[in-house]
Amino acid sequence: MTTLANRKVICGNCGTKTNVTVVASTNSMGSPDLDTRPPQMERSTMKYWVQRCPYCGYCGSDLSQTILIDIVMESTYQNQLNNTDFPRLGNSFICQSMILERLEKYNKAGWASLRAAWTCDDAKKIESAILARKRAINLFLKASKENQTPMKQKGGFELMLAELYRRTKQFDKGLKYLEDNLSNRKLRKFQKIIQKLIKAERELMKKKDDKCHQISEFM
Ligand SMILES: [Zn+2]
Repeated sequence: MTTLANRKVICGNCGTKTNVTVVASTNSMGSPDLDTRPPQMERSTMKYWVQRCPYCGYCGSDLSQTILIDIVMESTYQNQLNNTDFPRLGNSFICQSMILERLEKYNKAGWASLRAAWTCDDAKKIESAILARKRAINLFLKASKENQTPMKQKGGFELMLAELYRRTKQFDKGLKYLEDNLSNRKLRKFQKIIQKLIKAERELMKKKDDKCHQISEFM
């Protein structure tokens, strides 16, 4: 069961008092998707994962956090906030991602972009979902370069990259990425479940399958 709580917060960008809803508790039953999107009920709480100030457009997981950079009033940010190619919630996640990227928090920025892709999947906005996932790929690669670990589990990063290449129809690139970055020796050091899922990604990419799949399909 999901429980919500309403709060009044002061926007960390413009200082206006606004109402937000936060998830007090939720649960998930079943299998996550290959890209870690959680099953229900948690899946339905996504609209509360990012808050948007109705006055200035600041988007973040906690609006009361002071924002120390000047990005919200920039035209690229404001245009993204109202970009009709994306669902409204997707724009909030992309804007959150833009702020985090500017703050050089590439790992968190990548996750926000992936979440934007999930909202595009739900809204059947295929091209925008691809754009958001490509953005996530770039951010995760940047995160890894800057030693910000995108995924804690060994092999989780390579698995996520493969999944993102697959969902953006970059099958050859994804297969080459796995070939270049995962020797059999390295692969054997991963947990069995990660090895299985990487194998599944390879097979799906060979079949040019760009659809959403759940982890349980490959267990
Ligand atoms: Zn504000």
